[in-house]
Amino acid sequence: MREIGHWIDGKVVAGTSGRTADVFNPATGEVQAKVALASKAELDAAIASAAKAQVAWGNTNPQRRARVMMALVGLLNRDMDKLAEMLSSEHGKTFPDAKGDIQRGLEVIEYCIGAPQMLKGEFTDSAGPGIDMYSMRQPLGVVAGITPFNFPAMIPLWKMGPALASGNAMILKPSERDPSVPMMIAELCKEAGLPDGVLQVINGDKESVDGILDSEIIQAVGFVGSTPIAQYIYERAAEQGKRAQCFGGAKNHMIIMPDADMDQAADALVGAGFGAAGERCMAISVAVPVGEGTAEALRERLVPKIEALKVGPYTAGNDVDYGPVVTSAAKENILRLVETGVAQGAELVVDGRGFNLQGYEDGFFVGAHLFDHVTPDMDIYKTEIFGPVLSMVRANDYEEALGLAMDHEYGNGTAIFTRDGDTARDFASRINIGMVGINVPIPVPLAYHTFGGWKKSGFGDLNQHGPDGFRFYTRTKTVTSRWPSGIRTGGEFNFKAMD
Ligand code: NAD
Repeated sequence: MREIGHWIDGKVVAGTSGRTADVFNPATGEVQAKVALASKAELDAAIASAAKAQVAWGNTNPQRRARVMMALVGLLNRDMDKLAEMLSSEHGKTFPDAKGDIQRGLEVIEYCIGAPQMLKGEFTDSAGPGIDMYSMRQPLGVVAGITPFNFPAMIPLWKMGPALASGNAMILKPSERDPSVPMMIAELCKEAGLPDGVLQVINGDKESVDGILDSEIIQAVGFVGSTPIAQYIYERAAEQGKRAQCFGGAKNHMIIMPDADMDQAADALVGAGFGAAGERCMAISVAVPVGEGTAEALRERLVPKIEALKVGPYTAGNDVDYGPVVTSAAKENILRLVETGVAQGAELVVDGRGFNLQGYEDGFFVGAHLFDHVTPDMDIYKTEIFGPVLSMVRANDYEEALGLAMDHEYGNGTAIFTRDGDTARDFASRINIGMVGINVPIPVPLAYHTFGGWKKSGFGDLNQHGPDGFRFYTRTKTVTSRWPSGIRTGGEFNFKAMD
């Protein structure tokens, strides 16, 4: 049995806590590895060593740190297939989708090559007589990233890129369900020239997360995962005086206006609803057709497309649209929620409950489901299902559709499909959701913009990657300087404007 330890001080270290978790191959249901779950003592030792390593790294000039990012981009490209293979085998997503997971993380590392530009600060010459004023962004010291199972390459890279390029040391606590890719990335960081100890990968569960939150050394926590844990981490980090950005779950609505291209909208919904088995925080899980005619036209197109979806293991190559979900517990939870939908009166138009993949009976595969006539009081509407289940909620008009998305507790992403520029503009302007697509179903911002949801999908005031990534992992120091030749008067006792 493969054993996954921790990455500490530039090497793989076996766990000593005696506690482990199973890492499955979701396609077969087999346990393929055991991952060590760190004790608080193991974590504290790694943090102490990171704090030592950070001093020299923080003093390394930003151009040299950027060169490590540049080398890392090359290595991620070199090992793309190897990383994607491991990613698919632990997560279950298809091989091309696993490559997309790595690619979207890699693009943030590319952006971080611009660290010298991002960190160069601001300067005001002659802010007063003989007075100059300048602001600089300095690393925080040791920071942490705590990441979810569903993007085991992308989200760790989103965290480590800006944190490391800014001169911090990072404790990365990846998901215990698919921890191998973050370990492989840490090894690539070393090969790229990152000094030992600057990136420590600590595998673990609640014990190590709580250890991170309680550490007096760790200054900031970047978290991505489910909403209850995001809120818990945000609150506990704040109690300890730490900076925190915590991104949570989602229930993304796509509004389909009567003037939309229905074929395009149906294609978009199938890809965005069922890609990665619905295990994406930017998946569309609610379709809101406006008007009965739109609902019927959409349903007529959706049903055959959903029934034709090919579900299978990543090893089947391009023949597969989506793979298994991550664990049997996830599968049970999805099927339980489907039952509540039926019991609460939604119409199950495409019923994936009996789905069984020959030869993979023990895998965690879930058939595709489409519900129609879903209403806001139903559990399948209120809850993030995180599986291949699409719900249709019919709206009479645009205002009702907008209101549905606005009133939902989550606010990660949303989309509108229309040919009308006024409606699209109104939607983008009024909606209380962080990421908006106009005829784009999954509007994930590129690396040089920022990613973040509103309402219960995001706690904290700075987004991930882009300029906010650098802001989150640095703090501003502002210096006002005057040299003796400029000092001509005695003490000043009142605040006043600069002369
Ligand atoms: P999760 O909340 O179960 O786990 C996330 C991390 O928190 C993991 O590292 C895990 O070890 C840790 N954790 C779990 N339980 C904990 C506890 N009780 N105390 C302390 N730490 C704990 O999330 P997941 O199932 O890995 O990921 C799926 C969720 O992540 C979905 O809700 C999805 O929408 C969300 N997500 C959000 C975004 C975003 O940017 N908003 C992106 C990706 C995923």
